[in-house]
Amino acid sequence: MWNYFNSACNLKFHYVYSMLPSLTARGDCSSLRGRFFPARASLPETVMKNDCIFCKILAGELPSVQVYADDAVVAFLDIAPVVHGHTLIIPRGHYPTLFEVPPELAAPLLAATQRVGAALMRALQAEGVNVMQNNFSVAGQTVFHAHWHVIPRFPGDGISLWRQGAYASNDEMRDFAGRIAAQT
Ligand code: 5GP
Ligand code: ZN
Repeated sequence: MWNYFNSACNLKFHYVYSMLPSLTARGDCSSLRGRFFPARASLPETVMKNDCIFCKILAGELPSVQVYADDAVVAFLDIAPVVHGHTLIIPRGHYPTLFEVPPELAAPLLAATQRVGAALMRALQAEGVNVMQNNFSVAGQTVFHAHWHVIPRFPGDGISLWRQGAYASNDEMRDFAGRIAAQT
């Protein structure tokens, strides 16, 4: 995992946010979730729209430092950047995780990600960008309004990627692939 989970995620607002009593309440997109998880009726970790920090930012009820906006998305600086310039891109609608985001938003989200990523490279002389998207607590999601991290990368910036492993055998690898393919 990124070392950023060990640093940024320990900041105060993450704890405040994770203590919200409504954290286990169903969001207003739960029917869409059924498309992907019919067997798991009560996935936790959705937040009602009214308690959502990013919805409050969209409504202008909380401040943000914006770098880009269009009809479908808004991009603003992450308050606890992994690297200065770390930007979040969010859809204007409240979708708790990737799995509720309607497919028609894919094009505007991709276009905004390309636009912001290129801007980070030009403006900050970054030599690359990572695009990251977390879903559910176990994967590091702390704000339950789907969002894309766009992180500028510099030589020697010290950000480490996750540790990689190996399959015990080709059969084990094929077994995993078969189980996943059967659910796609
Ligand atoms: P996640 O951990 O859910 O993938 O990412 C949530 C991100 O939102 C974190 O990187 C965190 O720093 C950022 N964040 C949380 N609250 C606020 C806020 O009020 N304003 C801004 N700009 N970023 C926030
Ligand atoms: Zn929201």
